[in-house]
Amino acid sequence: MHALTEAAVRRCLVNCSRSEAAALTLPRNFAELDWPAMDLLGWRDPKAELRGYLVHEQDGRPVGLALRAAETRMSARRSAMCLLCHTVQSADGISLFTARRAGEPGRHGNTVGTYICADLRCAGRVRAVPPSAQHLPEELQQLAVVEQRAALVTRLARFTADVLRERAPETTMVR
Ligand SMILES: [Zn+2]
Repeated sequence: MHALTEAAVRRCLVNCSRSEAAALTLPRNFAELDWPAMDLLGWRDPKAELRGYLVHEQDGRPVGLALRAAETRMSARRSAMCLLCHTVQSADGISLFTARRAGEPGRHGNTVGTYICADLRCAGRVRAVPPSAQHLPEELQQLAVVEQRAALVTRLARFTADVLRERAPETTMVR
């Protein structure tokens, strides 16, 4: 993705108020981010424990989502999968996050929820060769990484579309 300024990150959030966007804390390493290598910037607010953010690019423009993590954690004895990057890890590394819907539905308390890596660092995980491809030749390992990255972008676009949807799916007219 293209590098963003601090102001651009705050401006691109689609589902929170201007004051909430102004109050968020950027990741500590913001100045050193390797933007071109990233498909997504995800982070937990260092000063507001349950808040987190996902910023990515859609059609060349930045789109950011503000999320809230569930207060309860899942058991470390079980495993769970992140629904964005599809990494499987111990369940305490995955958290349920809710995103307020953009606009009117969000003002009425309407949210969308999904299970995501608790640290929101899915972008780094999809750049690692998956265990299922580790025995394959180098080119196929790289191909697996390319596919993983593309799949993350697709799932992120779907989640964003859910947050941006103005009406509930059952009221949408199908032509
Ligand atoms: Zn993830």
